Amino acid sequence: MSNKKKKKEEEWKKELTPEQYNVLRLKGTEKPFTGKYWDNEKEGIYKCAGCGTLLFDSNTKFDAGCGWPSFSSTIKEANIEEKVDKSQNMVRTEVLCKNCGGHLGHIFDDGPQPTGLRFCINSVSIDFEKKDE
Ligand SMILES: [Zn+2]
Repeated sequence: MSNKKKKKEEEWKKELTPEQYNVLRLKGTEKPFTGKYWDNEKEGIYKCAGCGTLLFDSNTKFDAGCGWPSFSSTIKEANIEEKVDKSQNMVRTEVLCKNCGGHLGHIFDDGPQPTGLRFCINSVSIDFEKKDE
């Protein structure tokens, strides 16, 4: 098994769609209310679109009204990485997939209790898997 972290950018380019590549590898942001999951209310789990790592559970998803899928916590803290992002004249906390380093979105501290966190995630960075009945 090769380490996914060491995947070359050309390989990512081949595997991902242009939209996924732009967000996951180039840290782009999809336009609000355009992604496929911002209003997805089905029960299930969300995985990294780059490598399949488990990231979020639908039971922590909430409607933040911002047009991006929002979660109050992650399935497993060890699966994500947080980084200070000072781009665009703002100081924000960037969220990345710990396994492949893919850019997911940002964390804000205006989420619902008990965590008070809002993981603001791009739809193209994640893949939804519906819960089995
Ligand atoms: Zn990943």
